[in-house]
Amino acid sequence: MTSTSTQVSTAPAQAQAIQPVRGMNDMVPADAAAWQRLESIARELFTAYAYQEIRVPIVEHTGLFKRSIGEFTDIVQKEMFTFDDPSGDSLTLRPEGTAGIVRAMISNGLLHNQRHRVWLAGPMFRHEKPQRGRFRQFHQLDVEAFGYAGPDIDAELIMLSSRLLKAVGVDRVELNLNSLGTPGSRREYREKLVAHFSAHKSKLDPDSLRRLEGNPLRILDSKNPDLQDIIATAPVLTDYLDEESRAHFSGLCRHLDAVGIKYVLNPRLVRGLDYYSHTVFEWVTTELGSQGAVCSGGRYDGLVTQLGGEPTPAIGWALGQERIVELLRVQGVNAAANAPDIYFVIAGQSAEAEGLRLSEKLRDSVPGIRIETNCGGGSFKSQMKRADKSGAAYALILGDTETERRIVGLKSLRVEQPQVEISWDVLATELRNRLNKA
Ligand code: ATP
Ligand code: MG
Repeated sequence: MTSTSTQVSTAPAQAQAIQPVRGMNDMVPADAAAWQRLESIARELFTAYAYQEIRVPIVEHTGLFKRSIGEFTDIVQKEMFTFDDPSGDSLTLRPEGTAGIVRAMISNGLLHNQRHRVWLAGPMFRHEKPQRGRFRQFHQLDVEAFGYAGPDIDAELIMLSSRLLKAVGVDRVELNLNSLGTPGSRREYREKLVAHFSAHKSKLDPDSLRRLEGNPLRILDSKNPDLQDIIATAPVLTDYLDEESRAHFSGLCRHLDAVGIKYVLNPRLVRGLDYYSHTVFEWVTTELGSQGAVCSGGRYDGLVTQLGGEPTPAIGWALGQERIVELLRVQGVNAAANAPDIYFVIAGQSAEAEGLRLSEKLRDSVPGIRIETNCGGGSFKSQMKRADKSGAAYALILGDTETERRIVGLKSLRVEQPQVEISWDVLATELRNRLNKA
C-alpha cells in the first residue's frame, strides 16, 4: 500500500486536567514571599522565647483524637479525615497539633519531671465546608508549654502571640480572654447551663440539641442569630469560678496589664475542644467575615493524664496561617518579593561556555547573592525582557565580545544609570559593594 496524503497526528491526545481536592490549596510561587516571611519571623520569635521545634506525624491513630479532642466536638463528630490503612488500623489525618504533640511527649518520655517549650508548624486537615478562611487542608503555627502551672507562662505565651502578630504587621485584631476554671467549678456551672437551655428547649436548633447532651458549653459558641437571646440570658461561667481559678485568672490579667497587652473579657468564649481548663483566649478580627479567629489557645492541665502520661500542666495556642496571610493582604502589608539581585544575560556561543562558571564563582565569593542565570538561550532582547520581569536590581550582560575581553556589562534595571563595563577580576568586589553584601 502506498501512503496517502492524509496526515495522522502522532501527538497523544491531551488528557483532561486532574482537579485539586476540594478545600485543599496550592501555595503558588507568587504567594511564597508572604508565607516565608510569616514563618521566618515566627521561627525567630519562637527561638527568642526559648521554644524548640518538634515535628510529629501527620497521621495518628484515630483513637488519639477521639480521646483528646472529645467525642462530642464538631471535629470528632464530623470533620475528621479518617481511613483504614491496609492492615485495618483506623488512622486519621491530624485535625490539630496539640494531640499529636502530647502523644509524642509521652511516647518519648519527655514529661517525667521536665519542662518543655515546643513549637510545631504544618498542615492540619478538617472536613469542613470550604469558604473564605476555612479550608480542608490548612496550616498552623503551634506552641505548647509543658510542666508549667502558670499563670506566668499563660501570660508569656500570650505575649509571644502578641509580639508575633505585631511583628508580621497584623494590627486589626482584638484579644478575647476567659477562664473555664477547674473541672470542678465547671461541673456546677454545667448543671445550671443545662437547666437554662432545657427550659428553652423548643427554641434550640438541632446542633444545640445535640450539644445539650454532650457538650452544653458549646451552645454558647453558636453563631445562629435565633439563639442569641437565650445565650445572652444564660448563666455566666465566671460567676461560678472557685477560689483557685479566680486567683489564676487575676494573676494572668495582672501580668498582661503590666506589659500593656489589651484584652476583652469574654465570658462566652468557650472554645471548641473539650480539653481546656482555666485560661482560654482567642485573637479575633472583623476583617475576614465570619472566619474571625486568627490565633486561639488555652490551658489543658488534664490532657496529658487523659492520654496516659504523668500529670503535667500544659498550655498552648495555634495560629491559622491562611487567615494571617489573608489578613495581611486585606491590610495591604506586602512582603518584599524574593527577587534576584542579578539577572545574568548570556548571549552567544563563547558566552554560554563561560556563563554558568562565572555565576558559580560569584556565588562562591559574594555571600548571599541571588543570581538568576539565563538558561535556555534566547536573543539579547528577549533575555533583557526576562531580566526586567524577574525584578532583579541589575542585569549582568555577557556576549561573545565581552567574553573575549574578559568583562561583563552591568546595567541597573531600576534606576537610570549608564551601563558600565567590569573586568571579571574585580566583579565580585564590585557586586559586593553595590549590593551591600558583607
Ligand atoms: P473556627 O471557630 O474558625 O472554626 P476553631 O476554633 O475551630 O476556629 P482552632 O481549632 O482553635 O480553630 O484552630 C486554631 C486556628 O486555626 C484558628 O484560630 C484558625 O485561625 C485556624 N483554623 C481553624 N480551622 C481552620 C480551617 N478549616 N481553615 C483555615 N484555618 C483554620
Ligand atoms: Mg472550627
